[in-house]
Amino acid sequence: MPQRIVVIGGGIVGVSSAYFLSHHPTNPAVTLIEASSIAAGASGKAGGLLALDWHGSDTSSLAKLSYRIHASLAEKHNGRERWGYRELDTLEISCEEGKKTNKQRAGVPNWVHQNVITKVGTLGSQQSTAQVHPRRFCETIIQESNNLDVIIGHATRIALDDNETLQGVEVELDNDTKIIEADVVVVAAGPWTTRLLPSIVISTQRAHSVTISTNEPVSAHALFTNIKMKSGSVVTPEIYPRADEIYACGDVDNKVPLPKLAKDVQVDEGRCREVIKNVSVVSDLLENGKVNVMQACYLPYSEIGPGPSIGWVPGMKNVAVATGHSCWGICNGPGTGKVISELICDGKILSATIDTLDPARYIK
Ligand SMILES: Cc1cc2nc3c(=O)[nH]c(=O)nc-3n(C[C@H](O)[C@H](O)[C@H](O)COP(=O)(O)OP(=O)(O)OC[C@H]3O[C@@H](n4cnc5c(N)ncnc54)[C@H](O)[C@@H]3O)c2cc1C
Repeated sequence: MPQRIVVIGGGIVGVSSAYFLSHHPTNPAVTLIEASSIAAGASGKAGGLLALDWHGSDTSSLAKLSYRIHASLAEKHNGRERWGYRELDTLEISCEEGKKTNKQRAGVPNWVHQNVITKVGTLGSQQSTAQVHPRRFCETIIQESNNLDVIIGHATRIALDDNETLQGVEVELDNDTKIIEADVVVVAAGPWTTRLLPSIVISTQRAHSVTISTNEPVSAHALFTNIKMKSGSVVTPEIYPRADEIYACGDVDNKVPLPKLAKDVQVDEGRCREVIKNVSVVSDLLENGKVNVMQACYLPYSEIGPGPSIGWVPGMKNVAVATGHSCWGICNGPGTGKVISELICDGKILSATIDTLDPARYIK
């Protein structure tokens, strides 16, 4: 069994992998290397929606496992208080800016303007949808890992000796470069993964989001919107209320390439203001609340596979990868961490059926 495991990437996939590896009964020494700070990328800037059964056949087993793990981690580590875990009702609502209907629609939360709504549907119930605050989840799960060593430094390459045998990971630390020795390496670097593993082709798009303070508790309803603006454009922001704020995100763009580090992601405040303007149609809380954060991050996705890439890297010994979770990494990250720990420490994946996510099946 491997004794020294290095995980690259402190997003939800990396921290979940480190958590489950560090709690494995074989008790390996686990080191996590993160270039910026824990949850510096999409894992700190996502909405945090969890859905039990919205996933295609390739990821449904992983998603069911991960949904269960989210609930059990929340139970075990007081996630309701520490990272805002709660069950949600999830609605889709169509609205029209400036519309004034008198129709009262059942099930619409009291903080949403009834008079602009043209259609309401239910997407999920408290049995099938839930939420976490993703950054707080990642930061807490790191604290709850068992003897985990966290290094803040940029991993520059997987180090192999002349016989192509794994030595470890080369890391830039301040002005120094060092090899962190490892028997097994897990690359969970989200959209940056291809820079360390060129055969794993992960594409990326930037997305902007905002959080807005509320002075009152907001009900546990997530909203998928379709809003017809006065200008004629149709926008589809997603809205996730949390205990003390409301999160909203807009659409994606390809205007700025992925920077070297997550902390250097460029935020276009104009795009954030656009999100605020659009969601203001839906609620006074969003129109009048204090804007806490305007932010951007990059979504990692595979253009050639059916979902994330999880498993051993073809052509490399003792190097595993877990990446490309697209818009479901918060939901499926903990399940991914669990199956990665099984693959490495038990020799095979036991808790989910994810054969079609094996990187060997769809590398370029
Ligand atoms: C706007 C938006 C909203 C979203 N909402 C949801 C949602 O509601 N529910 C859901 O399930 N998913 C959601 N997602 C998707 C989710 O955020 C991602 O799938 C998930 O965060 C990906 O996690 P990750 O750990 O793979 O990557 P990341 O979060 O990108 O983490 C990768 C980490 O690796 C580090 N790293 C990279 N290269 C190196 C290196 N060479 N050395 C050391 N460290 C390195 C980075 O600094 C980063 O911290 C959303 C995404 C976006 C963009």
